[in-house]
Amino acid sequence: MPAGKDMTGGRRSASTTKKNAYCSFCRKSYRDVGPLVEGPGDVYICGECIELCQSILDQEQRRRGATKPLFNRIPTPRELVASLDQYVVGQTFPKKVLSVAVHNHYKRLQLGVEGGDVEVEKSNILLLGPTGSGKTLLARTLARVLNVPFAIGDATTLTEAGYVGEDVENLLLKLLHAADFDLEAAQRGVLYIDEIDKIGKTSQNVSITRDVSGEGVQQALLKMLEGTVANVPPQGGRKHPEQQYIQMDTTNILFICGGTFVGIEDIVRKRLGKKALGFGQQSSNQRQDIETAEALSMVQTEDILEFGMIPELIGRLPVIASLCPLDHAGLVKVLTEPKNALLRQYQTLFQMEDCTLEFAESALNAIAHKAVVKGTGARGLRSIVEQTMLEVMYELPDQPKGSKFVIDADIVEGRRKMFPVQPQAKSA
Ligand code: ADP
Repeated sequence: MPAGKDMTGGRRSASTTKKNAYCSFCRKSYRDVGPLVEGPGDVYICGECIELCQSILDQEQRRRGATKPLFNRIPTPRELVASLDQYVVGQTFPKKVLSVAVHNHYKRLQLGVEGGDVEVEKSNILLLGPTGSGKTLLARTLARVLNVPFAIGDATTLTEAGYVGEDVENLLLKLLHAADFDLEAAQRGVLYIDEIDKIGKTSQNVSITRDVSGEGVQQALLKMLEGTVANVPPQGGRKHPEQQYIQMDTTNILFICGGTFVGIEDIVRKRLGKKALGFGQQSSNQRQDIETAEALSMVQTEDILEFGMIPELIGRLPVIASLCPLDHAGLVKVLTEPKNALLRQYQTLFQMEDCTLEFAESALNAIAHKAVVKGTGARGLRSIVEQTMLEVMYELPDQPKGSKFVIDADIVEGRRKMFPVQPQAKSA
């Protein structure tokens, strides 16, 4: 490169020190706007104008975004499952289902950009499983590994227009937030809607307010799942006539809906029992022995219909995956195996104090046992561990560096206090 030239195509720019120079774009003087960048031939530009130019260029680039590749490489379902495996214990089948759906979602988007002849339709997903089995965790972990915007919403906050609550469009607003208000990106994102079962028009719902978030909300959701241009209020909240809306097309958004569907296993058992009765082999009571996990894995569309969801909504969630409740062994794994497992988090806190923390196998079993009794799946683990560790954490910063702490079943059960974190015992 010749001397005196730079990477800007031969032009050389530097900030000027001329006090009487002024910005060639906004005509403001050096004295008003501070340092100016000098171009060839007595041309100057100020910081404010540079910022403005940058935002104009960014905007233009975003507008043209649809023509540039959306992503470098589509992750394969196997790669997606491998990423999910690092954080989520078990649930092999739902992981597979989600990975294939997300992989195909990427492909659809690519096809849309390349303009293929065949239009691949999206397959929205319904995840069902008991509380604390990892539905939200699966969705959240996917968000980590995906290159598309991802948001989590809750169907229970939704109500029909005219009632206190939120409009269905507010779910889309969350996606828009996740995409930093980049509409193009948000329109090809993934939206997880939790507690979808709570808006069923089921006869078991006795509350009057429940009707408010019943079928009307399902109808609004229908349109969104199917693909519509929704009017999203940029500030959220309820819609009102004078408001400005952002028009958002939901055709390319992948929806994942989750719900516990409490009691659906009984519907499955009843169905299987009836069938068996039809063949004259078993009485309906004989099928009651089917384990909840097994019954959940056999859930079919008709069971979900029976549960109270409207057929149109089920029709728009063609992929169904059931999560099993975590058993004792599964809960022990949740404590130790995931990348950010609860026990690892505590061990990190101890490392920060130059101390070490160990959990004896008996402690792991005791914690898992307590969680099984609680019946809230892995969700209950955190509070049990927090409770166990409270006293130790209180004393930790005052303990000598290099101390080692071992938690066993006695400490988890509250039969013994931690040693050496026991000042009273020392003085005794
Ligand atoms: P839900 O199925 O009710 O949506 P969540 O996914 O919110 O349950 O789980 C609650 C917490 O329990 C998670 O934050 C996670 O720490 C833990 N957890 C639940 N299931 C699993 C799992 N399969 N593997 C690892 N951790 C889990």
